Amino acid sequence: MEKMTYKDFTLHTKTMPDRNGFFGQYGGSFVSPELAVALSEIDHAYQTICHSSQFINELRRIRKEFQGRPTPVYHCERLSKMNGGAQIYLKREDLNHTGAHKLNHCMGEGLLAKFMGKTKLIAETGAGQHGVALATAAAYFGMECDIYMGEVDIAKQAPNVARMRMLGTRVVPVSHGLKTLKEAVDAAFEAYTKEYKNAIYCIGSTLGPHPFPLMVRDFQSVVGIEAKDQFREMTGLLPDAVVACVGGGSNSLGMFSAFLDEPVKIYGVEPLGKGPSYGDHAASIAYGKEGIMHGFNSIMLADENGDPAAVYSIASGLDYPAAGPEHAYLHSVGRVDYKTITDDEAMRAFYALCRYEGIIPALESSHAVAYGMQLAKEMQTGTVLVNLSGRGDKDLDYIAEKYGYGEEYNL
Ligand SMILES: *Cc1c(COP(=O)(O)O)cnc(C)c1O
Repeated sequence: MEKMTYKDFTLHTKTMPDRNGFFGQYGGSFVSPELAVALSEIDHAYQTICHSSQFINELRRIRKEFQGRPTPVYHCERLSKMNGGAQIYLKREDLNHTGAHKLNHCMGEGLLAKFMGKTKLIAETGAGQHGVALATAAAYFGMECDIYMGEVDIAKQAPNVARMRMLGTRVVPVSHGLKTLKEAVDAAFEAYTKEYKNAIYCIGSTLGPHPFPLMVRDFQSVVGIEAKDQFREMTGLLPDAVVACVGGGSNSLGMFSAFLDEPVKIYGVEPLGKGPSYGDHAASIAYGKEGIMHGFNSIMLADENGDPAAVYSIASGLDYPAAGPEHAYLHSVGRVDYKTITDDEAMRAFYALCRYEGIIPALESSHAVAYGMQLAKEMQTGTVLVNLSGRGDKDLDYIAEKYGYGEEYNL
């Protein structure tokens, strides 16, 4: 496909996806007729309700008073100096309530449910991050919440399971197949198909069938809108480059959407885990190909039967075999460059941010910081704005056990 420049993106967020949820050839909705009925109800509601001033004003108030937005942009003077090269800035989504960007779309989805007269939120969760964010939204709105979770994941993610239960959510164990995320996705969709008159399904990233990739991107776009204004206020300029990690793609699209039509270089960072062999990473765009899974067409990692591949990353939030369809599109037209970072590179960046800035980042976000540091070095001068999608509290026990306190990293 022909490469596009920032000048081609002035209308992007207004015209993409199209009415059927396609970003070019990617996206769409490949679901059962029953589910299609339920999704078209959400689509219709979203297209009308979310543009009403009542909805927009209530979401603004929630973001300010409950979530603590705007989150700041911060200049990492010590890290930039230690690293050498361009100046590194962070958008501090780790300071959003619950410690990550995921609440941005969960509060939007919860508010949509309220305006639609729904009384229950349904979702699946893998590592539990989306489950906790949605449980928070459900408590705020006084709604029931069912989170489907594989039994294997329930055993592995005890703190997040406890958080969800404390917030009043029902964690529904899924005990068939491999008892992890894939089975939980199927179980959540099945429950939603039966219960959609009273319930709404809430996806955890810019993934799944239309209208979810659109809705989640729009709810996350507050990140980029705030960051652009804040960065301009601090420096008088736009950043030369923006960087974010890509799991399903929500924090990155939230950041990128404000910069697509500006003369700014944009980098998405995928997890290369232990290396490029099958099963050792989750770098879907770098190593995947076009295919349909979980109800949408995108670039995905598949096994020899075309089923979602086994994937791995040290960061459980990046551990998904596809990127959202908008990323596949932005890759195909050359507007966003996709790069990879290994577990080891992410760990080095994790300790660097801890020691030079007093910020303990999530392992997911550490991938973005790692690439931001590489890029800053290559650029020599200028500025790099990195989206720090979340804080590292959830990862501390694992890191301390596996890596100690990072003594062996020569920083
Ligand atoms: C879930 C998660 C991610 C990855 O999800 P995206 O939808 O790609 O943003 C990144 N960072 C943190 C902290 C997360 O919890």
